[in-house]
Amino acid sequence: MNNSLFSGSNINLVKTHNMQVILMSLLYEGEISRAEIAKRTSLSSATITNLASELISQGIITEIAPAISEAESKRAVGRPQRMLRLIPNACYAIGVHIGVGLFRVAVTNLHADIIENCIVEFERETPALDVLEQIATEIDGLIADTAIDRQRVLGVGVGASGLVNHEKGLSVLAPRLGWQNVNIQEILQNKLSLPVQVDNNVRAMAIGEAFFGAGRGVNVLAFVYGRSGVGAGFVVNGQVFRGSGAGAGEIGHTIMVPEGGQPCRCGQKGCLETLVTEPVIVRQANEIAQQHPDSLLAQYLAQDDGTPLIDRLFAAAREGDQVTKSMIESQIHYLGIALANLVNILNPEMILLGGVFAQGDDLIRPVACQVMRETAFSSLGEDVIVEPTSFGWRAGVIGAAALALMDFFYQRTDGTT
Ligand SMILES: [Zn+2]
Repeated sequence: MNNSLFSGSNINLVKTHNMQVILMSLLYEGEISRAEIAKRTSLSSATITNLASELISQGIITEIAPAISEAESKRAVGRPQRMLRLIPNACYAIGVHIGVGLFRVAVTNLHADIIENCIVEFERETPALDVLEQIATEIDGLIADTAIDRQRVLGVGVGASGLVNHEKGLSVLAPRLGWQNVNIQEILQNKLSLPVQVDNNVRAMAIGEAFFGAGRGVNVLAFVYGRSGVGAGFVVNGQVFRGSGAGAGEIGHTIMVPEGGQPCRCGQKGCLETLVTEPVIVRQANEIAQQHPDSLLAQYLAQDDGTPLIDRLFAAAREGDQVTKSMIESQIHYLGIALANLVNILNPEMILLGGVFAQGDDLIRPVACQVMRETAFSSLGEDVIVEPTSFGWRAGVIGAAALALMDFFYQRTDGTT
């Protein structure tokens, strides 16, 4: 590996549009010949040959013999096409998912596969600077533990809860953490001496799925995540849709119960967040358990075995606790309506569900999908594919690492080069 890739002049080369086109072909196809890249892109053979040579000399791609049978090789005329392939561990990215009261850090390779990761819980009242200091320490620790060359780390992607200005790297407002105008990018760059990109954590999850997961090749992708809040991220035709003020995807504050709804932390009443988040569902389950002290639910919630309460209430529903099942269905009905509204506005090809919605997938998705299909305009709901995230609990860190991989290596998420 030639570390000069990371020097000023060479990193610019990687960021050229033509180079991005080749890297994206390699990412999507796995193995591809120069001729095939030429056929699929508008690049000339000479350009591809030059750029491929550059990538080979920098140790980013390798050339391999094509996998063909003996019979095929006998029939073939001339020298068989050699295939190009990315070397996944040629470079690395760091992903940081900042949730409410916990953060996860992961080191990934160029395929966004996790090499090493850690999870750290923190008190919600912890000042932002202290949390970021701790994140920087964990990143340094992971780089040391994995013994990877820091020169090979492309950069850090951060997916943060709340309103985030990607351009400025700023957490504009994260009410549940008490963060306001925290320049995550500047603070982490200064501490780590690595380039940093910051975005909303759900938007980062959408990026992860769009380029490295179930959403690859999907033209209009929506990711809907529920935990202590509900948010959405959109990737449309290979670009992240952030909105005019970085606020696209605040689906949690769409009003579902205009009359008599519960107060929401945003100041409104009856928002989706007051109906389908993890704390709301757990609270409802606790109330049911009190009313039905002999139920399976009450029994499960009382077992303090360290399993999160949400998993215990899902287990009770799966094992036939009818009251719990009905409660989940009536709450998730609202998620179905919210998804129908999303379908009417965005007309997505695919919706991926993450967080608590993926944890309770078997209980949640059938109800949410049925309501969505019944409620969406005309047949718009019929064609949309709805699946749980392909990354499970790793969706946040993989998404954050994907943000870094796209912006520092493959193709910027805002459509610029
Ligand atoms: Zn609200």
